[in-house]
Amino acid sequence: MNSLVKPPLTIRLCEPRGFCAGVDRAIQIVVLALKKYGAPVYVRHEIVHNKFVVDGLRERGAVFVKELDDIPTNHKDRPVIFSAHGVPQSVPADAQARNFFYLDATCPLVSKVHKQAMRHQRLGRHVLLIGHAGHPEVIGTLGQLDPNDVTLVETPEQVAQLSVPDENNIGYVTQTTLSVDDTADVVAALEARFEQLTAPSSESICYATTNRQEAVKLAAPGTDMFLIVGAPNSSNSMRLVEVAKRHGAKGSMLVQRAKELEFDKLENLKILGMSAGASAPEIVVDEIIDAFRLHFDVKVDVALTVEENENFPVMRDLRETPLLAEDMAFLNGPDA
Ligand code: SF4
Repeated sequence: MNSLVKPPLTIRLCEPRGFCAGVDRAIQIVVLALKKYGAPVYVRHEIVHNKFVVDGLRERGAVFVKELDDIPTNHKDRPVIFSAHGVPQSVPADAQARNFFYLDATCPLVSKVHKQAMRHQRLGRHVLLIGHAGHPEVIGTLGQLDPNDVTLVETPEQVAQLSVPDENNIGYVTQTTLSVDDTADVVAALEARFEQLTAPSSESICYATTNRQEAVKLAAPGTDMFLIVGAPNSSNSMRLVEVAKRHGAKGSMLVQRAKELEFDKLENLKILGMSAGASAPEIVVDEIIDAFRLHFDVKVDVALTVEENENFPVMRDLRETPLLAEDMAFLNGPDA
């Protein structure tokens, strides 16, 4: 690709893409906590699944730890923050026992799933959680209930093997970031087996997951390649890679930073689809489009499905601390 005339490339850029209201809120909580209380602020687990975000917050004074055991016992007057994915009930209880001051950045839509699961349990139903084993959100949701009252289901094939205390008294909830279509298959299998299955009072898969998947479905047909900006441990980003492939992209892949792109393998592109998972910052999307501009004559077409206006406010403790554009410029860019 050394000729002076760059080949044309149309980038179909999905809208909505990238940060959702829950991720935005969780990041703001760390930024504002650092501003109000000063460094270090401890964060249990990655606040959201994105290395760029985590590295940026680390540079500002956040310290990411696996467990509360990793926090010095004398860390009392600055907060410990729980990630957007939610935590088992044992974690805030443990923080209280250690006299830590904690701020819970669990997305309100994850908390809603916790409440739905607890409601099933309160009404005497055995809870089936549809989700991926080991994901922090699944660990958090399982941890709202007595282990005897909840069973994880990952695939339609597992449904036939499920053993539950009372087949006529079952409710389900799901992880918020699953594939809408795959989840429908698991629910259909559950409905076929359990006549009295009770759905959650409202959809567990969140608006951001649904909207990002719908935009990718719209943009994917006819694309030579589909790039999803996001991290391999980000469930919603991985689902977007699958959705793109399933809905007509010739290929699809995850990319975390522009430097990972191998342009010698991308020579014959004419139409490139692009989106970003809910934890991927827009500044990285811009970086990747700029990298394509070095190799192609790029035209960007926006594939818009819906406008999002969701905004989840931070907790009362932090509302008085002003959040300025410059505080978030490391993720949104200087002009946002
Ligand atoms: S993906 Fe959905 S559930 Fe997860 S943080 Fe974003 S809005 Fe909340």
